[in-house]
Amino acid sequence: MSNESLANLLKEERRFAPPAELAAAANVTAAAYAQASEDRLGFWAEQARRLTWAVEPTETLDWSNPPFAKWFADGKLNVAYNCVDRHVEAGNGDRVAIHFEGEPGDGRSITYAQLKDEVSQAANALLELGVRKGDRVAVYLPMIAEAVVAILACARIGATHSVVFGGFSADAVASRIQDAQAKLVITADGGYRRGKPSALKPAIDEALTKVDGVEHVLVVRRTGQEVSWTEGRDVWWHELTARQSTEHTPEAHDAEHPLFILYTSGTTGKPKGILHTSGGYLTQASYTHHAVFDLKPESDVYWCTADIGWVTGHSYIVYGPLSNGATQVIYEGTPDTPHQGRFWEIVQKYGVTILYTAPTAIRTFMKWGDDIPAKFDLSSLRVLGSVGEPINPEAWIWYRDHIGAGKAPIVDTWWQTETGAMMISPLPGVTETKPGSAQRALPGIAATVVDDEAREVPNGSGGYLVLTEPWPSMLRTIWGDDQRYIDTYWSRFEGRYFAGDGAKKDEDGDIWLLGRVDDVMLVSGHNISTTEVESALVGHPSVAESAVVGATDATTGQAIVAFVILRGTATDSPELVEELRAHVGRTLGPIAKPKQIKVVGELPKTRSGKIMRRLLRDIAEGREIGDTTTLADSTVMNLIQAQLPPAGSES
Ligand code: ATP
Ligand code: MG
Repeated sequence: MSNESLANLLKEERRFAPPAELAAAANVTAAAYAQASEDRLGFWAEQARRLTWAVEPTETLDWSNPPFAKWFADGKLNVAYNCVDRHVEAGNGDRVAIHFEGEPGDGRSITYAQLKDEVSQAANALLELGVRKGDRVAVYLPMIAEAVVAILACARIGATHSVVFGGFSADAVASRIQDAQAKLVITADGGYRRGKPSALKPAIDEALTKVDGVEHVLVVRRTGQEVSWTEGRDVWWHELTARQSTEHTPEAHDAEHPLFILYTSGTTGKPKGILHTSGGYLTQASYTHHAVFDLKPESDVYWCTADIGWVTGHSYIVYGPLSNGATQVIYEGTPDTPHQGRFWEIVQKYGVTILYTAPTAIRTFMKWGDDIPAKFDLSSLRVLGSVGEPINPEAWIWYRDHIGAGKAPIVDTWWQTETGAMMISPLPGVTETKPGSAQRALPGIAATVVDDEAREVPNGSGGYLVLTEPWPSMLRTIWGDDQRYIDTYWSRFEGRYFAGDGAKKDEDGDIWLLGRVDDVMLVSGHNISTTEVESALVGHPSVAESAVVGATDATTGQAIVAFVILRGTATDSPELVEELRAHVGRTLGPIAKPKQIKVVGELPKTRSGKIMRRLLRDIAEGREIGDTTTLADSTVMNLIQAQLPPAGSES
């Protein structure tokens, strides 16, 4: 990206010091950075002591066969015991672990003592079905408490779980079941979405006509809708678990025992089955949840709005919060059912103090209007988190002002399925935050930005984000494909993990994420990041959301094509489009002016809320549209195409 646009971005920069009260009582202070940089492995060894080990590890990192890491390899622990039993043993059995809020307004609150019983019963149920340590279990559930119970039951007996988004098609589920060779599938009749029951079991029934090896399907009854039943294979969850003992003795598993496989979102291409193991993963999930959210388990009510089917749900609904003994909210449904204030109603109802959500949700709330959150009491909120995409400064400020009462610190957390836990983020009691920047590697994490030749770029320049040292929750491999693991992450820059994201360092050395390197545009010899142009567009009062792609262009190499969704009050007109182009020119410089701006009603997104730019690039270049199987709503591409003039004609 050009230096003039960087200068422009920095000019607008505002900074926010941590609230004094929070800083004074923060879980983690600035000393953690110094401690970790003096002795990184010692730092992680200390964090591992947050956990309860059956056998304490004496080794921290074994990096003798890079890029295959072993962390805490001679230690043994039970992950589920760490997330449940030990809190009961510590006298906190009556603390609520999960406030489950169903979309129809039903719900239940589950204490740690109850969770221990339910997880034990589920573990015994899995054993009765013949599932053993090392087997794989596919989980295809809505956002209900049973999803957490099922995951922990697997962890408890040492079965490796592979959670698949409840929104994925039968084919997508089938390929994931096949790849992991799952023996059991845990699903539900359905879940509630957008005010009505949405069936899940039919997708499993169809998927299982395509793959072999699944012995049983364990079915949670959620909606009561009719399901077809295969005798001998299908088993009701409530019937099987109810007759199990609430006693189950957790076995200690090796720190490197496979905990789960999770497929990446598929934003850039064929999803990869990322393998995570136990001790290192839990150490970093637990530490980051404690540090980045400043979680006080006795008083906080935490809510992460992610789906359990993506990594944020794994690390920051299941393993991070529960290992820390947190009280959290789990919500089944969509943010606009039955009304657009549903999230804020939930915050008010449970007194949520820490909220973790995605930029796409924040931009949607902005589009719906400031008056909606204003109707609710959000004064309990003290820390706000963001994950999934770069958050544009406009949305960041809105989040702080309208949700955080103009004072809650925002932690913009950069990480990936592959990293397992947060890597780059402010610390709420330490960092002077800057809207739009994830800022700095967490204590114990080593990240930097390099150029094509793997040279670290100076402050004020951009390049590729790399991680320069192994970290406890790193992926161990791509399931069944060590070579792809090496090629994808460790081959671009010798000895360094290549994240696939572009980034820049500002004059203070703080890191700004610029989106995927595959998305960076080359216009007349200048590298321009999609994130910056999108951010400039959303900075205009008429624009709610935007997605920008580079389309092959005879004169400029690539031309910038922008897709925008307008805010409620704005209407599409040639004048507005011209104004938006001029606005980007003023903000980032004339080189970044989009050649075309297309006003659309929706953007193609994954279920985790990420924009699939490659599909928009297909449209912009007049190609047939690529793989849409991981789209949240597969009809969106048809809608967009129908709204646009045929490819090749100028806007
Ligand atoms: P695939 O790898 O299959 O294309 P994906 O990368 O979307 O899928 P995830 O692991 O869910 O799958 O997403 C990680 C990516 O999300 C990061 O590499 C980055 O591009 C983006 N991301 C996550 N958090 C942030 C953040 N705070 N700021 C900027 N980008 C972020
Ligand atoms: Mg990725």
